[in-house]
Amino acid sequence: MQIVDFPLLQASLNSNKVVSSYHYGQPGSGLKVYIQAGLHADEHPGMLVAHYLRLALQQEEAAGNLQGEVILVPLANPLGLDQKILGYLLGRFEQGSGQNFNRYYTDLAALVAGRVESKLGKDAEANVVLIRAAMLEALAELQPENELDSLRLRLQSLACDADILLDLHCDLEAALHLYIHSEQIKQGHELAQHLGCEVTLYAEAGNGQPFDEAHSGPWANLATRFPKAAIPMACFAATVELRGQTDVSSGQAKADAEAILNYLRAKGVLKGQPEAASKVREPKPLAAVEVTKAPSAGLVDFLVQPGQWVSPGQPLLRVINPLGGAETELCSSIEGIVYARNRQRYAHTGMELMFVSGEEPIRSGHLLSP
Ligand SMILES: [Zn+2]
Repeated sequence: MQIVDFPLLQASLNSNKVVSSYHYGQPGSGLKVYIQAGLHADEHPGMLVAHYLRLALQQEEAAGNLQGEVILVPLANPLGLDQKILGYLLGRFEQGSGQNFNRYYTDLAALVAGRVESKLGKDAEANVVLIRAAMLEALAELQPENELDSLRLRLQSLACDADILLDLHCDLEAALHLYIHSEQIKQGHELAQHLGCEVTLYAEAGNGQPFDEAHSGPWANLATRFPKAAIPMACFAATVELRGQTDVSSGQAKADAEAILNYLRAKGVLKGQPEAASKVREPKPLAAVEVTKAPSAGLVDFLVQPGQWVSPGQPLLRVINPLGGAETELCSSIEGIVYARNRQRYAHTGMELMFVSGEEPIRSGHLLSP
C-alpha cells in the first residue's frame, strides 16, 4: 500500500489543502477500482465505510488476495470539510463560487476526441488503452486556475482510467440507492445485488457532469462520435447513496464495507468466494422519479418513511400553515418506493420534499437536484 498526499493549488497564503489517496495492488495486474467518499463534504456515511475499507484492503493486500489495483480516497473534499459557517458544515457547494462540488467535471470525451480519432479501430481493447492514455495525458496538460479546479482535476486524474468507480455519497434522509448510466443497467444491478439496494436509478449523461457521469459518460459519447470504432463502456461508474446524512454508525459502515468487498470478490479484484448476493428490484429510470415539492411554505409532516412502498393516491406528507391553519396533503400519483426525503421540517415554497422511484418516465431535462 502506498499513500500519496497531493497538494492542491493554494487558494490563500498558508492555507494548503491535500488530497490523500491510498493505493493497493499493482497497476495493470487486473481491474482498476477507484473508490472515493465525501465529495460532498457534509455526507459522512461513506467516509466511515472508507475507513473500514482501508483496514480491510490493507489485510487483503498483505494476505496476497489483491488481483488488481484499488485506489481509495476516504476524504475526497478537504475544501468542503473546512467550510464551517455559523456553526454548520457547508459541504455541498463551494462557498466562494456557489458551485456544487459534484458538478462541472471535465468532459473527457471532448478532451480526447481529437487525439484519438485517427487511431481508433475495430479492436475494442486497443481502443480502451488508447483512450485511457489520451485521457491521462490530456488531464496532465490542464492547468487548474483555482483550488476547486485543482481538486476536481486531481480526483479525475486518479479515476479516469478505472474499470470500476464508486463515488460514495448520501442523501438527506434516505434508503440506500444508486445512480448509474443508462448503458450500464446490468452492471448497476449486479452492484445493487451485492449492496442489497432496492433502488437503482439510471440516466444518460447530461445532468451537469457529476463525477460518475463524467467517467462513464465519455465512453458512450465517444462510441456515438465514432460509430465505426469498437468503443465499449469501459468504466462502470456508480454514485452510491449510503442512506441519510445522520446514518453514520460503525455497524452499518462495516456491513457496507463488507458488501463492497464482496462485490470486488465477484469482480475478481479480490480472491475468495463472494457471499451470495441478494435479490433486489431491477434498476429504474431516473426520469421515473416523482418529486413532491411544497406548494406553499409551511411545516412538514412526513407520513411515509424512506424504503416504504407507496401506491397511487397514498398520502406522502402534509404541509401545515400554523398561521391560517391550512393543511395540504400531498399524495403519490405513482406506485413505487420512497427512497429519499428532505431533512428540514419547515418548507419554503417549491422545496423538494420527497422522492418516489416508479416504473415509467414522467420527467425530462436536468434530473438531479442542484
Ligand atoms: Zn452527495
